[in-house]
Amino acid sequence: MSETMTQTERHSFEAEVSRLLHLMVHSVYSNKDIFLRELISNAADACEKLRYLAIAEPQLADEGGFAITLSADKDKKTLTVADNGIGMSHDELKDNLGTIARSGTRAFLDGLADKAEGQALIGQFGVGFYSAFMVAGRVRVVSRKAGSDEAWAWESDGAGTFELTPVDLADAPARGTVVELFLNEESLSYAEEHTLERIVHEYSAHVPVPIRFGKGEE
Ligand code: ADP
Ligand code: MG
Repeated sequence: MSETMTQTERHSFEAEVSRLLHLMVHSVYSNKDIFLRELISNAADACEKLRYLAIAEPQLADEGGFAITLSADKDKKTLTVADNGIGMSHDELKDNLGTIARSGTRAFLDGLADKAEGQALIGQFGVGFYSAFMVAGRVRVVSRKAGSDEAWAWESDGAGTFELTPVDLADAPARGTVVELFLNEESLSYAEEHTLERIVHEYSAHVPVPIRFGKGEE
């Protein structure tokens, strides 16, 4: 086994997350567009958190303004949502993207009488990060916490487990998070810039961080 292989950790999702992911992966909910609203809202929250921290510690955010960058790649069938916000450490990736912290989602799952009803409620509740699995068969999150000299990748196909692997700083953002979605065949329109522009206009017009369209790797 190679050195990098041994550094990969595999973790199981909390049971409730697995339940939610199952719902997402098999979603017939018609308005899948909302996944982008959720990822953009997380990216904006991350920028706002760092903006706040940087009042006391300006060196944490010393290289320019905050931005969210959407990059679509039709050939690779990917969409990435990148931010230069606060980022996540190893433990934060494990906890935030492995358990259900948000009380709304817990209430959503508790109130779920049957699957059809669940589908109808997805849009209403906004199920956060995990909604990415409505459109992606695999999701890879690379994150570097502001001020840290470590970066980690979180990766999952939504089926029970996720992997955490250390990432070379050369392959990570200077700070913040890159969420890469490997789009499923029914969701390839999300690799088209005009689709993304329409959704941003519709759902994310008032996000307090500029949203840019980029090409491929930053
Ligand atoms: P919520 O945003 O309601 O807390 P989510 O499922 O959308 O729920 O996200 C879960 C958590 O994961 C967030 O609270 C945050 O701590 C973390 N997170 C998700 N995306 C990002 C990001 N781009 N940057 C930093 N942290 C993030
Ligand atoms: Mg969120």
